[in-house]
Amino acid sequence: MLTNIVSRDAKILWHPYTQHSTARPVIPISKGKGAYLFDDKNKQYLDLISSWWVNIHGHCHPAIVNAISKQANQLEHVIFAGFTHEPAVQLGEKLLNILPTGFSKVFFSDNGSTAVEVALKAAYQYWFNHSQQQKKIFLAFEGGYHGDTFGAMAVGSSSGFYKPFEELLFEVKTIPFPYTWLSDQNINEKEEQILQYLTQLLEESSEQIAALIVEPLLQGSSGMRICRPHFIEQVLLICKKYNILTIFDEVLTGFGRTGTMFAAEQLTCIPDMICLSKGLTGGFLPLSATIVKEEIFDAFKGPNFSQAFAHGHSYTANPLACAAACAAIDLFSTENTLDKVSKINEVHLQCLQELSKVSEQIQAVRAIGALGAFNLGSIETDYSQPIGRTIEAKLLEKGLLLRPLGNCVYLMPPYCIELDELKMAYKEIASLLEIIFERTTVTLQ
Ligand SMILES: *Cc1c(COP(=O)(O)O)cnc(C)c1O
Repeated sequence: MLTNIVSRDAKILWHPYTQHSTARPVIPISKGKGAYLFDDKNKQYLDLISSWWVNIHGHCHPAIVNAISKQANQLEHVIFAGFTHEPAVQLGEKLLNILPTGFSKVFFSDNGSTAVEVALKAAYQYWFNHSQQQKKIFLAFEGGYHGDTFGAMAVGSSSGFYKPFEELLFEVKTIPFPYTWLSDQNINEKEEQILQYLTQLLEESSEQIAALIVEPLLQGSSGMRICRPHFIEQVLLICKKYNILTIFDEVLTGFGRTGTMFAAEQLTCIPDMICLSKGLTGGFLPLSATIVKEEIFDAFKGPNFSQAFAHGHSYTANPLACAAACAAIDLFSTENTLDKVSKINEVHLQCLQELSKVSEQIQAVRAIGALGAFNLGSIETDYSQPIGRTIEAKLLEKGLLLRPLGNCVYLMPPYCIELDELKMAYKEIASLLEIIFERTTVTLQ
C-alpha cells in the first residue's frame, strides 16, 4: 500500500530539471519557517538557495500570509482585460515608486519566462508598429539564462540546456560576458575587448537588431557569474547610440539580491524594459511584471486592435499574488531588509576568504549582495562535474540545503537568515571540503 509520500510521488509526478533515472529520492517538505524548511520527520534544513531563488523575507512570513488570506476573503480573481482591482493598481504604483525613475507602465504575467516573452514580443512589435523595416535579430550574452519558454530559450540558448530545440529557435547573436571574481587581474582588458566587439557588431548590423537582453550584474543559471556595473552601463550607452532597445532581466537580481533593490540602481542609466518575478511576491506565489518606458507603451496605441499588444494570461495580475507582492515590498522598509543584505554580504566576504585557505581548488571566489559563490577545480562552471551532487548530498545530511551548479557552489539565503547560521553553514562546507580534497590528494598519490 502506498502510504509513503515519496513512493506516491515517484509513481505519478514528473519533476522539473530532473533525470528521473539517476536522481536521489525527493525530500518531502511539510513546513517552512524563516530560513528553515522541515521534512515530514521534522528534520530541519537551512534553505541556502531561497527555494530556487524566490524566497526573500523567509518562509511563511506572517505579514505576507495575512495579506493573502485577507485578499482571498475579498476577491480571489477577475479577468484583467477591461477590469481592474486595488492590489494590482497598488502594486503597479509601488513598483514604479521603487524602480529607478523613467519607467511608466507595468504589464503583469505569471513567471520569469513569461515576463521575458512579454519583453521580447513588445520589442519586436515595437519595430513592427513603427512600420520601418522589421528588425528580427536579438542580442544576448553568452551564458545568459532567461527561462524555458521558446523566446526565452532562444535568447538563452548559449546556456546549453536546449540542444533538442536548436532548430526551432529564432536568430540571436551572442556577446561574451566579462565574468569576474575577487582576485581577477584581467577584468579591464576583458571588458574593453567585449565593448569593442559589441560596437563593431552594431556598426555592421544594428539595422537588423531589435533588442538586447541581459541579466544585469549577475548571471544566475550559468554559474553565478558577476560582472561590474560599469560594463553594463557602457553596453546600455552603446545600444542607445545605435538605437537598439535594451531589456534587463532582473528576474533573479530584483528585490535586493545584488545589494540594491534592483541591479539597475547601481548604474547611471536605465534600460527600456525590465523583467521582474522570483522575489516579487516574497516567494509565495507565481507573478511577474514587465515594466516599460512610456515610449514603448506609446508605440502600441492606435485606432486599430492590430497595433495593440495581443498578449495575456488567464491569471494576469491575480489579486492574491498582487496582495502578496505589495506586502513583500512593504517589508523592505518595515524590516530594513537591505541592511540585512549588506550584513549578509560582509559575512560572505569574510567566510569566503577563510574558505579559500582550505584548498587551492577553491577558485573564483565572489560575492554580490546576498550571494556568495566559488568554483571547485576551475574558474569556469561545468554542470557535468559530479562534485556538486556529492557536496549537496553530504550537506543535506547536515541539514543544509544547497544545490551546486556542477562545480559552482553558491549560498543564496533568504535575507532573514541569522548571520551565525550563515557562518555555521560556511564552517560545515569548509570541513567537508577539507575531507574531500585531502582524500583527493591521497588517492592521487
Ligand atoms: C529563473 C529565471 C528566469 C525564469 O523564471 P521562471 O519563473 O523560472 O520562468 C528568467 N530569467 C532569469 C534571470 C532567471 O533567473
